[in-house]
Amino acid sequence: MSPQTHDPHLPAALADRPVDSEHGLPIPFVNSYDDGTHDFRAPNRRRSIQCALSRLCGMCGLSLEYDIAFLGGPKAAESRSFTDPPMHVACAEAALQLCPHLAAHATPPEQRAATEVEGRRRLRPGVTTADLFAGDRPSEWVLFLTHNFEIERATGEGGGLVLVFHPGEASAERRFRFEAGVMQELS
Ligand SMILES: [Zn+2]
Repeated sequence: MSPQTHDPHLPAALADRPVDSEHGLPIPFVNSYDDGTHDFRAPNRRRSIQCALSRLCGMCGLSLEYDIAFLGGPKAAESRSFTDPPMHVACAEAALQLCPHLAAHATPPEQRAATEVEGRRRLRPGVTTADLFAGDRPSEWVLFLTHNFEIERATGEGGGLVLVFHPGEASAERRFRFEAGVMQELS
């Protein structure tokens, strides 16, 4: 995504995050590594676990509130199995608009470079990838709202640990579609 598409109304905690010099985007807490680097497409597994155990927002890294948001495809919402950590509602809304990771997933499979995905998977040891839901890289996204969640430690395709978040009952489900370069909320 290009810098000019940025929503100027970022949640304050997100606006306070360090900014990626290449894309001009705030770097989510869960995509930051302890060595000061970051990777928008590969969540830091340690931080993902930290979000789960301490109930922190994966985007801004601050404590979650009563309303908790998860982002994923329709299948993830249906099975209540998400691979990205919970978020504040406002942070999830910002993620939908900003996150190149989500935008990349919204690209039709035939236009995606498979080699890039594979390369990312091998890039860092201890990285959580969405292996369990590799078939679910939709152009449609669900913002799943709930008040609680459980975590499951599952084994990914390569034998590595994958964290799966299972939200409780949905208080709401909002649907979005990536079209013509923008994320639109479906009515
Ligand atoms: Zn947040």
